[in-house]
Amino acid sequence: MKILNHYINGAPFTGSGPRTLPVFNPATGAQGAAVSVATPDEVEAAIAAAAAAFPGWAATPPLRRARVMFRFKDLLEQHADELAALISAEHGKVISDARGEVTRGIEVVEFACGIPELLKGDYSENVGTNVDSHAVRQSLGVCVGITPFNFPAMVPLWMFPVALACGNSFILKISEKVPSAALRMAELLSQAGAPAGVFNVINGDKDVVDQLLHDKRVVAVSFVGSTPIAEYVFTTATAQGKRVQALGGAKNHLVIMPDADLEQAVDALMGAAYGSAGERCMAVSVAVPVGPIAEPLVARIAERARALKIGPGTDQEAEMGPLVTGAHQAKVESYIAKGEAEGATLVLDGRGLKLQGNEGGYFTGPTLFDHVTPDMTIYKEEIFGPVLSVVRSASFAEALALVNAHEFGNGAVIYTADGDSARAFSTGVLAGMVGVNVPIPVPMAFHSFGGWKRSIFGDHAIHGREGVRFYTRLKTVTTRWPAGIRKGAEFAMPTMR
Ligand code: NAD
Repeated sequence: MKILNHYINGAPFTGSGPRTLPVFNPATGAQGAAVSVATPDEVEAAIAAAAAAFPGWAATPPLRRARVMFRFKDLLEQHADELAALISAEHGKVISDARGEVTRGIEVVEFACGIPELLKGDYSENVGTNVDSHAVRQSLGVCVGITPFNFPAMVPLWMFPVALACGNSFILKISEKVPSAALRMAELLSQAGAPAGVFNVINGDKDVVDQLLHDKRVVAVSFVGSTPIAEYVFTTATAQGKRVQALGGAKNHLVIMPDADLEQAVDALMGAAYGSAGERCMAVSVAVPVGPIAEPLVARIAERARALKIGPGTDQEAEMGPLVTGAHQAKVESYIAKGEAEGATLVLDGRGLKLQGNEGGYFTGPTLFDHVTPDMTIYKEEIFGPVLSVVRSASFAEALALVNAHEFGNGAVIYTADGDSARAFSTGVLAGMVGVNVPIPVPMAFHSFGGWKRSIFGDHAIHGREGVRFYTRLKTVTTRWPAGIRKGAEFAMPTMR
């Protein structure tokens, strides 16, 4: 059995711990590898390496740090197909989708290449007579990233290129379900010229996270994952005096106004609800048709969803792959049973799907519920699978109120031909990322990614300027120089006094 290890102090690090966790190929259900869980000593080695590397890296001119990012970007591009294959083999998503996440991740590295511009400070002359003031943003120290299974490359890339370009060192605790892409990226970053210890990857689960959250040398924590763990990481690490950004779960709504183009809305829902088997934090899991468009919408979604091509990630034709693990599939399918039991209309049932040649894979087909109501579990909770709920609404106001009453506020979308409705929606909706006729409004790298309400804990969204603010702290220096050389200029050779 292949054992996946860690990357500490600029080199692969073989774990010596007794615990391993299985890494599956979701398309076959076979265990492809095991990941070694870092022991307390190994976590300590990673923290010590990052702490030792920090002062030198922080003192490295920002331009030189950016040059490492330029080379890293180049290497990521050269190895994008290899990374996509690693992602697909452990996560299950189709190769084209995995390639897409690598591209979105590379865009953050591109942004990090330009960070010297954002590290420029402010300067005020004469804040008092002959007194000047300047403000700079300085790096923090050892930063930690804890990432989810659903974007093995992109979510880590939301974090560490920005942290590093700002002069921090970094420890990534990658999701134990999908470790290979991050370990490969660590090698590429060393090849790009990052000094040893500046970037480290360790594997493990709760115990490893807890050790990182309690270590005094760790000064900032970025987390992306489910809401209960995001809240736990936020409360635990902030109680330890650390700076934390913790992004959590979602239940993203797509409101379809009566004047929307039906085919465009259906197209949008296909990709947003069923792409990546619904395992995206920006997936649309609730469709809210307003008025009479509901009937044709549900009929058309069902027709299109029935025709979706499902297959292993390596199948070039496949539009949707399997779920990540058997346990996750069982959870998703238990929600489908709950929806039925609670009285929603099950229009399309994805359970019991067996693909010829991939009988052991964790495939659940696209699932569609109609007449879902806000009190149902399938509406309230994040399912994180290919399950779309339709909540019919009588008016725009009712639809907006529905979106705003939900505990999550990651993304929200409206499809309409009416500028007034679109404007009222984007102004009034309680969500961090809003789409107008755009199904998955994931901000670009130079903007920032983050939800509202219980989709985020902490004040800073990820990457873009918000990311730079998160990974730096402000220092303001006020300066007065005593009258000197001007008054008492000497023309003789200076001598020691
Ligand atoms: P998860 O919360 O189970 O795991 C995330 C990370 O936390 C992993 O590295 C895991 O090892 C660690 N972890 C798990 N249990 C822990 C515990 N008890 N204590 C400490 N650490 C623990 O999430 P997941 O299942 O890997 O990912 C799916 C979730 O991530 C979904 O809820 C999805 O919405 C969310 N997500 C959110 C965003 C966003 O930007 N808001 C992006 C991607 C994914």
